[in-house]
Amino acid sequence: MATTTTANALPAPEVFVIDGHRTSCDGGGGALGHPKVWLEIDHDTGFVECGYCDRRFVERGGPADGGA
Ligand SMILES: [Zn+2]
Repeated sequence: MATTTTANALPAPEVFVIDGHRTSCDGGGGALGHPKVWLEIDHDTGFVECGYCDRRFVERGGPADGGA
């Protein structure tokens, strides 16, 4: 029986579904936050990830929002 050991302790990134394709992220503010940055959702993928906190923003109704 094969056993794989992973050291993946990263928490699952939070996913936010938003209207429109432009948003900003500051990591939630406070000690866990980061400087506010503006993010623009890629029209082909339908989502963008914050480079600071790895939050994912999905455009409502877009390719990454389950389609339809
Ligand atoms: Zn962020």
